[in-house]
Amino acid sequence: MSAVPPADPARPTSSAASPDTVPGTSPGAAASGRRLLLVHAHPDDESITTGATMAKYAAEGAHVTLVTCTLGEEGEVIPAALAHLAPDRDDALGPHRIGELADAMRELGVTDHRFLGGPGRYRDSGMMGAPQNDRPGCFWQADVDEAAGLLAGIVREVRPQVLVTYDPDGGYGHPDHIQAHRVAMRAVEHAREPGPGGAAHHVERVYWNCVPRPVLEEGFAQLRAAAADGEVFPFPGFTGDTGFAAPDDVPGVVESLADVDVTVHAEEYTRAKAAAMAAHATQVSVRTGPGGTFFALSNGLGQPLSGIEYFRRADGARTGTGGGLTDLFAGVAA
Ligand SMILES: [Zn+2]
Repeated sequence: MSAVPPADPARPTSSAASPDTVPGTSPGAAASGRRLLLVHAHPDDESITTGATMAKYAAEGAHVTLVTCTLGEEGEVIPAALAHLAPDRDDALGPHRIGELADAMRELGVTDHRFLGGPGRYRDSGMMGAPQNDRPGCFWQADVDEAAGLLAGIVREVRPQVLVTYDPDGGYGHPDHIQAHRVAMRAVEHAREPGPGGAAHHVERVYWNCVPRPVLEEGFAQLRAAAADGEVFPFPGFTGDTGFAAPDDVPGVVESLADVDVTVHAEEYTRAKAAAMAAHATQVSVRTGPGGTFFALSNGLGQPLSGIEYFRRADGARTGTGGGLTDLFAGVAA
């Protein structure tokens, strides 16, 4: 089966009479009425943590909107031929990553993508503790209310029932991920009042992406088995000892499936997710072999790549199903 089903040509590509119509609306969005907004920190985060989910909902006719908060200017560059783009050389990684993200969105079938405040409005802040954290104009230095106001304008315009972002720690403590969380949560509050973008809008459900530790451990076991069977590791950029990352290197780890509210089974879109991740070639290496599909960041440490993605409710209203719900729109009025 094709990783990304072709769009249904019978569906109208515009519906001017519908109040739901927004720029970039994908075919079928009006028919489905489902609108999903994802708020991510850097180009590549969307594909790595929620790529299969985005591809699945887009293919099913939901209107999927991605808001990326920075251009990821401080990322480490994997391909040697592109090393000159690095911030301590040409400092040209941001514009290059705009192109990578556009390619990734094509792989996922997502047509509505925006940068918060426009491309380059907020710069990548670097890892926590880096001197770049203090640079004026970086996302970590942004006024949360101002940034949330920009995002609230998109929320009022797109009117998503469901919003996905990170937990309060940003999944793993990166300043831009923490800030993305703060801005997204604040924007949901702002959007309850009318303002730029349109009438007041209540986002019915906010989720934080996560991944249960037992699932990760299983994924890493598969990775090691593939290596034992002769698949080639490590990935480019590897300089360490083992060639494999560990569960604690993965953002958004929760201890068990009981901490999860919704499990999105999008295995059918694993190839689309892998292709989207590979489009972020300066940041991600992807390898598929008989033992599975795996990836690495610039440290070259292998990680499992899965088409099953996990989410927990931001409001803490546990469903008590241990991840048994399979739809982010479950219980949400369309
Ligand atoms: Zn990131």
